[in-house]
Amino acid sequence: MKKIDVAFYTRRARAKKKSLSADLRKVVKNKPRGFLSDVKSATEQTWQEVSCVACGHCCMEMTPTWKKTEIKRVAAHFGMTPAEYYEKYLYTEEKTGDIMNDSTPCQHFDKKKGLCTIYEIRPSDCAEFPHFHRKDFADQVEEVFIPNMTRCPATLVMVEKITAIMREKGVIK
Ligand code: SF4
Ligand code: SF4
Repeated sequence: MKKIDVAFYTRRARAKKKSLSADLRKVVKNKPRGFLSDVKSATEQTWQEVSCVACGHCCMEMTPTWKKTEIKRVAAHFGMTPAEYYEKYLYTEEKTGDIMNDSTPCQHFDKKKGLCTIYEIRPSDCAEFPHFHRKDFADQVEEVFIPNMTRCPATLVMVEKITAIMREKGVIK
């Protein structure tokens, strides 16, 4: 499969971030009827254009937040104790208390194949990323969707699509 040109999407996101962010903020402020169903349509259209298997940028550049049960599960998979796994790969963010990967790319990313080597048992944060299906989508605009536009091609495309749908519907101009 041909790799996605992540740099192309990043440039596009940087160029459009200000206007797309303003549009997205207006959309969620207006609380349009059936919004989550439109997000679902935008998401389906997005996955026709962007393939995570052809990208892998989040596994290369970002870190999941780990739950203690997930550390236990993955550590056991490698015959390690949770403490050993934590010591080798993780750290705790001082401000938030979140447990994160110590370095990038992720220790479980196969760069040659572009695949997660622990896919079936990966942390829920990875499984749920880029979080399009969240019921609290509107509340995640500032913390998730706007910052992720420049680092996740799918997020950029989804925001482009949902704002286009909202423009067609007259929710924004
Ligand atoms: S979620 Fe985004 S950054 Fe991660 S692989 Fe898919 S398109 Fe790339
Ligand atoms: S655990 Fe897998 S899906 Fe999650 S960041 Fe690492 S390689 Fe990517």
